[in-house]
Amino acid sequence: MQLYNSLTRKKDEFIPREAGKVSMYTCGPTVYHYAHIGNLRSYIMEDVLEKYMVYSGLDVTRVMNITDVGHLTSDGDTGDDKMLKGAKRENKTVLEIAKFYTDAFFEDCRKLNIKKPEIVEPATGCIDDFIKVIEGLLEKGFAYIAGGNVYFDTSKLQQYYVFNDFKEEDLAVGVREGVEEDTNKRNKADFVLWFTKSKFDDQELKWNSPWGIGYPGWHIECSCISMKHLGEYLDIHCGGIDNAFPHHTNEIAQSEAYIGHKWCNYWFHVLHLNTSGGKMSKSKGEFLTVSLLESKGYDPIVYRFFCLLSHYRKSLVFSYENLDNAVVSYDKLVARIAALDFNDKNIDNAAFAELKSKFTEALDNDINTSLAITAVYDVLKAKTNDGTKLALIADFDKVLSLDLISHAQKAKSGKNEFEIPAEIAALLEERAQARKNKDFAKADELRDKITQAGYIIEETRQGTIIKPAN
Ligand SMILES: [Zn+2]
Repeated sequence: MQLYNSLTRKKDEFIPREAGKVSMYTCGPTVYHYAHIGNLRSYIMEDVLEKYMVYSGLDVTRVMNITDVGHLTSDGDTGDDKMLKGAKRENKTVLEIAKFYTDAFFEDCRKLNIKKPEIVEPATGCIDDFIKVIEGLLEKGFAYIAGGNVYFDTSKLQQYYVFNDFKEEDLAVGVREGVEEDTNKRNKADFVLWFTKSKFDDQELKWNSPWGIGYPGWHIECSCISMKHLGEYLDIHCGGIDNAFPHHTNEIAQSEAYIGHKWCNYWFHVLHLNTSGGKMSKSKGEFLTVSLLESKGYDPIVYRFFCLLSHYRKSLVFSYENLDNAVVSYDKLVARIAALDFNDKNIDNAAFAELKSKFTEALDNDINTSLAITAVYDVLKAKTNDGTKLALIADFDKVLSLDLISHAQKAKSGKNEFEIPAEIAALLEERAQARKNKDFAKADELRDKITQAGYIIEETRQGTIIKPAN
């Protein structure tokens, strides 16, 4: 598999350190508010990456942190504490806020068919690990204490700006967002590992440390949580492109300074979701969430489909018009699948292999999801039997996770607007089998049972349709 690697700035062949096994790390959400759909785009594309690795036979262990301790609004070491802000807004404790929005985040993920990582670790559960690494960095001379805080000394590194896209001039902390420059820093790029001098008198979560009562900086979380669960070597680290600097840059700085060798080989960054007004964020314009889309009548899966239609390394523009176009395409696609003969269980192995190779070629080439979806259309157009087509689509959907088969089945049974109880669906399936075996007496008997239960069966050119009698 070829993957674009932000470290080398080119597509590299993905080779895990240990053959067949992949250690993957994902920066999790800061749980002070609902996730907006721009952040969820990153998680959708990372989900495709993970599922495709598994589909390709790799054994993936994925770790995600939950930022539930003071992380500052400017992403630098200045600005407001996001968690505290959320707690004040909702009149709750910081931990209540964290619990509520962690659950809300995974509920959104569930609706978008994003698999939960095997290991999810809240930062507040790892304070001892952070302290251990910070102590190590002080011992090795990569950190210093100033004004009560512990800072990482970026001047001790051979190369700090590893992603090459940023220069020191970009780091004009003092002029950005009207925040004060931290005069304790020896170098502009230095960052806080541990705060004891909180700018916030009412900082809620604090812990004892060798440097006094305080709380960890944001960046140290990911380094420590990754090393805690995945060891000193990480195969691939994922995140939104806005985290490349300073967050990921700082993660690399402190991890490699601590362990004394290269830490992570591949960096996978997903580009922004923009609105016509620019980059989407929680602070500007309409706050776009999964719940908002649902309240407007959109199935969250269609948002996933919308994301998959574009490459993850291209900025994507969100508008309701664009989403409506995705709805039309998705419905048409599902209708075409629904028109296939679901009773055909025959597989043409040669056709299967040939059509599958188009799908794997697309994803092997830097997770080209739009071409992978084209491969689904190629299946529908192909000159092969319906059983083969359905098997291929079900196979591709292990990675795409667009519920293509189940939505097609629903469309087929006309079941979009109402639920058919499982026992009725089972009778219908039994009847289809009886008809296939030309056991028409049994089929009629089953039809009667279904009718008595209050459902009507209609045979149409698209197949059997079932609906409530009234
Ligand atoms: Zn992180």
